[in-house]
Amino acid sequence: MIELDGSQGEGGGQILRTALALSMCTGVPLRIVDIRARRPKPGLMRQHLTCVLAAQEVCGATVIGAELGSRTLEFRPGQVHAGDYRFAVGTAGSCTLVLQTVLPALMLADAPSRLQLSGGTHNPMAPPFHFLERSFAPLLRRAGVGLDLTLRRHGFFPAGGGELEAIITPAIEGLDPFELLERGAAVEAYAEALAPALPRGVAERELETVAQLTGWAESQLRLGQARQNEGPANALMLTLVHAQVAEVFIAFGERGVSSEEVARTAVNEMRAYEASAGAVGPHLADQLALPLALAVAGSGRPAAYTCTELTEHSRTNFAVIERFLDLRFDTRLEVSRAGNAWRVDVLPGGR
Ligand code: ATP
Repeated sequence: MIELDGSQGEGGGQILRTALALSMCTGVPLRIVDIRARRPKPGLMRQHLTCVLAAQEVCGATVIGAELGSRTLEFRPGQVHAGDYRFAVGTAGSCTLVLQTVLPALMLADAPSRLQLSGGTHNPMAPPFHFLERSFAPLLRRAGVGLDLTLRRHGFFPAGGGELEAIITPAIEGLDPFELLERGAAVEAYAEALAPALPRGVAERELETVAQLTGWAESQLRLGQARQNEGPANALMLTLVHAQVAEVFIAFGERGVSSEEVARTAVNEMRAYEASAGAVGPHLADQLALPLALAVAGSGRPAAYTCTELTEHSRTNFAVIERFLDLRFDTRLEVSRAGNAWRVDVLPGGR
């Protein structure tokens, strides 16, 4: 059994999700204490509980402590079963984080799976649907895994009610580790403003501000496709597509925050990415770690990527992964004229 301290590093929900995913993948039981100890409301919240129950269903685990507010969990995984699953968070809690929990085991299964997920699809502090579709899924494909995503309905905080479908096609020959050291040539850049059930001026002012700050042409400024009954809500997404990788930067509107401020937040995030030579931004940097680690552990071959920054979140994720798999993460800062970047090497045989 692997015993984990949920207060280590970031001390958030990622420790739980990564540990559940790897317990399922490796068949090694898990005990985790002090779950989310560094969060204002520690323990399992609705979204985390849904992750635990989804993981339990997919592999027939025996679980102790799967209750709201629980700070300790014991998880004894059984056999992973590919299949047709429905998981509902039941609040605006992110359903993409539920996907993040069960995806690794299902992409190593012996048959495709279909997941229907409901809850939040565009939440602060979670991968938005469009990020998964444009940034994350193409990189999984490079490792040999099919992740086909369909957004049926947007779900924003606080109403939730979003729905997405994910078809997971496992890598038949095993996962392929890869290197992602450069972005490649710029292909496309565009902004989309989503503002269902809000005055049209909200989206228009956001796009105007993006145009002023970036110099983007009108053809790069788009009104997003959210339906009126998916609001009221507001999100602004900026997408940068390069030959090797795409990134999506999102900012959310809320009461008391002007459209101009929302636009500035999103553009500043994009500029931080542009100022570095790293291939991926901070979120892809932590989400890429687990699939690449599984590819390295399965094949015995190394993988590597560069990223714009190495967050405490990523470092904590690396530490949890190293507890389960025989590999190690080597990180080093690379200084260059094109901008600084972190290089992450995932090397087989860490023990
Ligand atoms: P919790 O708040 O549940 O305790 P946590 O603090 O461990 O969870 P977060 O930092 O909230 O986790 O991040 C959860 C996941 O969402 C991470 O994989 C992170 O990369 C991803 N994420 C957060 N924001 C974005 C974003 N704007 N784009 C893409 N991914 C994101």
